[in-house]
Amino acid sequence: MINCIEKELCTGCKSCFNICPYQAITMPTDLEGFWYPFVNEKCKKCGLCLKICPSLNRRSYNHHFNTPLVYAAWSRNEEVRCFSTSGGIFSELAHQVLNDGGWVVGAQYTCDFLVEHSMARNSTGISRLRQSKYLQSDTNTIYQQTLEALELGKKILFCGTPCQNAALDTFLRRDYQNLVKCDFICRGVISPMVYTKYLEMLEERYGQPIISVTFKNKSRGWNGFCTKIQFTDGQEYIEDRNHDLYMIGYLKYNLYLRTSCHHCLYKQLPRVSDITLGDFWGIGRTRPHLDEDKGTSVVLLNSNRGQQLFEKISKRVEFEECTLDEAIKGNVCILESTPKGPCRNVFFQEILANPFDVAFNKVVSLK
Ligand SMILES: Cc1cc2nc3c(=O)[nH]c(=O)nc-3n(C[C@H](O)[C@H](O)[C@H](O)COP(=O)(O)OP(=O)(O)OC[C@H]3O[C@@H](n4cnc5c(N)ncnc54)[C@H](O)[C@@H]3O)c2cc1C
Repeated sequence: MINCIEKELCTGCKSCFNICPYQAITMPTDLEGFWYPFVNEKCKKCGLCLKICPSLNRRSYNHHFNTPLVYAAWSRNEEVRCFSTSGGIFSELAHQVLNDGGWVVGAQYTCDFLVEHSMARNSTGISRLRQSKYLQSDTNTIYQQTLEALELGKKILFCGTPCQNAALDTFLRRDYQNLVKCDFICRGVISPMVYTKYLEMLEERYGQPIISVTFKNKSRGWNGFCTKIQFTDGQEYIEDRNHDLYMIGYLKYNLYLRTSCHHCLYKQLPRVSDITLGDFWGIGRTRPHLDEDKGTSVVLLNSNRGQQLFEKISKRVEFEECTLDEAIKGNVCILESTPKGPCRNVFFQEILANPFDVAFNKVVSLK
């Protein structure tokens, strides 16, 4: 059964947990804080979990474009753009689907600032999905909920990592015309345990509980790449990518990604989703008019369905056609997995016994 899957293959998508008709699969975390399936005594050996595991059942996406249509784009709504991670294209797509009578699936913060997948049915719900949260999202029963909504005939925009999109496909087992899948260029997901220890470190330092977490906050510009954390008494922590330890560990030392992210199966064309979003890093070097330092998205339209949805929002966004090479130049993560940092395993040993900063400094000073 599914607990024989190699650790390097399992993405923690939870599609096996969603499909099991006997509730025989739970998803405990390992010592690194990542979810893996555990099959209990209720298992009847039906094998459904093995049949729908996206890592064991690779689908081809030959009906998608071999080379996507590539745009640099942003929302004309300044507020949406400002509060989004890159150009706010996700929110425009989401509002379009809502206006068409549909619902939107994406990742939101829980009350303790962990991240879970949820279905938004109105614009307040969409604002909770907005912005990148740099840790693995708990998909819980979202594939089951998505299936139920699709069967009701609801139009659904599903947004998540490439592996979560692939998991939805194998879970559904057939193509639904009322589904549009959206993924993003993904560097990899961080352990929720490591993130929790990072927040605990800041709460200890500021002596106050946290009331909000924003990654890639734009108060110092999109290129400033700031992490901003607010506390109950009004204090604020704000540091850029070169000073925030969490981002340094993520972007420079590759310390705490899920093992499967180092061997990502979705660094391929055609892509798994209808639309792929990302940051158009480096676009200002060749097309300076496209970098206002407020956030420019790279949009890859991978299928007719993705193209049709983008056409519907075209009056509400600024966009310019670009080449795939330009997108890849600033974002190698389109085609390449992030390599495992040489100190990754030692970091995970240290974080078990130490606060975040102590573990970080021990490991980084090893270099
Ligand atoms: C873990 C992670 C790694 C990323 N790596 C890269 C990268 O290497 N290069 C790059 O160009 N872009 C990367 N992105 C994507 C980028 O940060 C923006 O999310 C994307 O450009 C869309 O921006 P937006 O302004 O259109 O929408 P936003 O409002 O920023 O939309 C964010 C969308 O992502 C979903 N989402 C947020 N957090 C998570 C999560 N933890 N798990 C699943 N879904 C989530 C939300 O539900 C929403 O649909 C990454 C995002 C995440 C969450």
